[in-house]
Amino acid sequence: MAYDRNNIFAKILRKEIPNKTVYEDDFALAFHDIHPQAPVHVLVIPKGDFISMDDFSQNAKPAEVQGFFAAVGKVARLVGVDKTGYRLLANHGADSHQEVPHFHVHIVGGGALGPLLAKRG
Ligand code: 5GP
Repeated sequence: MAYDRNNIFAKILRKEIPNKTVYEDDFALAFHDIHPQAPVHVLVIPKGDFISMDDFSQNAKPAEVQGFFAAVGKVARLVGVDKTGYRLLANHGADSHQEVPHFHVHIVGGGALGPLLAKRG
């Protein structure tokens, strides 16, 4: 599968659509999720064109991996959830219902989060 340059996060990176930025550096952009699922819900995306964790973990350069995950930790500290706790979540592919085909990590926190997964119905 080829990277889709018209996905919504690619447009956010190109500043074609607005976002509420929390943090930005050479490797990552972090912004508030438009439909927050917790009191704190921030998305962190790499600057490079990676579809998902599967693509990123195979094809990102070591500096990109290091820079990205350092940014994830930094963002969690910036929004204050390092003190109270937080959960990281990254969806890959159909079973996970990944909506946006640009790799992203959700940081959720700001209150007790409940079980890891919704009950299977
Ligand atoms: P996924 O299901 O792909 O892991 O999560 C995609 C996330 O992106 C969802 O939580 C959704 O609310 C968020 N999202 C989708 N479109 C936009 C947008 O235009 N702006 C922001 N800030 N978040 C978005």
